[in-house]
Amino acid sequence: HFNFCAGPAALPTAVLERARDEMLDYHGRGLSVMEMSHRSPEYVAIAEKAEADLRELLAIPANYRVLFTQGGASQQFAAVPYNLLGEGGRPSFVDTGIWSRKAIKEARHLFGEVDLAASSEENGHTAVPRPEAIRLAEDSAYLHYTANETIGGLAFDYLPEALRPDGREVPLVGDMSSTILSGPLDVSRFGVIYAGAQKNIGPAGLVVVIVRDDLLDRARADMPTLFSYKELAAAGSMVNTPATYSWYLAGLVFEWLKDDIGGLSAMEAINARKAAKLYAAIDASGLYANPITPANRSRMNVPFVLADERLDAPFLAEAEAAGLLNLKGHRSVGGMRASLYNAVPEAAVDALIDFMTDFEQRRG
Ligand code: PLP
Repeated sequence: HFNFCAGPAALPTAVLERARDEMLDYHGRGLSVMEMSHRSPEYVAIAEKAEADLRELLAIPANYRVLFTQGGASQQFAAVPYNLLGEGGRPSFVDTGIWSRKAIKEARHLFGEVDLAASSEENGHTAVPRPEAIRLAEDSAYLHYTANETIGGLAFDYLPEALRPDGREVPLVGDMSSTILSGPLDVSRFGVIYAGAQKNIGPAGLVVVIVRDDLLDRARADMPTLFSYKELAAAGSMVNTPATYSWYLAGLVFEWLKDDIGGLSAMEAINARKAAKLYAAIDASGLYANPITPANRSRMNVPFVLADERLDAPFLAEAEAAGLLNLKGHRSVGGMRASLYNAVPEAAVDALIDFMTDFEQRRG
């Protein structure tokens, strides 16, 4: 079976097998990682190794802190403004679809009007705003964007500049939930990166935050302690009991990326091949279509529609019977979506394309 789920998504088979082998008795210690004290030397070693491997994979500069926190990426929709609005100003946003709008909605709900720096609404979210279209307000405190819209399948092909009209640079904040670790990233361009774990990192609920250390003193005083990057950084992400087992599993994924895949450049090459094949098959067909402008097509989430909606149900039923799971599009948009995260092997994409070609010949 191949799992094309958008999240929680497939984990690498090698990681699941290793977790299974270690689950009851971790390295002969007579207990599961799930049962360890988060303050024990064994667990602290697991946690530190995970952070070190993530730092190595993404070449995270020394002046950035890495936090392993909880509450899903959605909690960061609130945590980011709490952490960055302590000196006043408004958050700026690029609106590219459903996930960026959720972040906008939460910031508005908590702190009032936001600055809409650019939007892809006029093109139906089929192309991200061009760099020069992003205009920050005078009182912008930071710029938030969603690097990859998981539902729309719309991805940035550049890192936005977070420049105010007065020429002052403000922190760039990236929601990287569905693109982190899919390839190399210039972390030094960011103030904050956050990512829910359930696509390319590990189990749902865990969130990785990467924050430049000069931003730790910009928080609002009225913020919940557990949201505070400063508190989390000072406590090694152990202000309270962290999601210990999820953090451990994330560490196994990082080891897999380093040792089995060979790092993020190698991962990116595989992901580029997977996505290129699938989009080529869609573009060549008369039955399937994807509306996104080629430069902004997501490598991680490939939505597509069938020319005749009545074929959706048989397509999904036959795909499932063929072992191709979770191809149904998000409930808000319908159609199909194939998520091609790191753990989805190239063979899965080949099998999907074969199935799609065969289905079109028979039913198209
Ligand atoms: N941001 C993006 C881009 C996402 O794809 C998702 C979930 O799919 C989220 C945020 C929300 O993540 P969570 O469900 O972990 O809160």
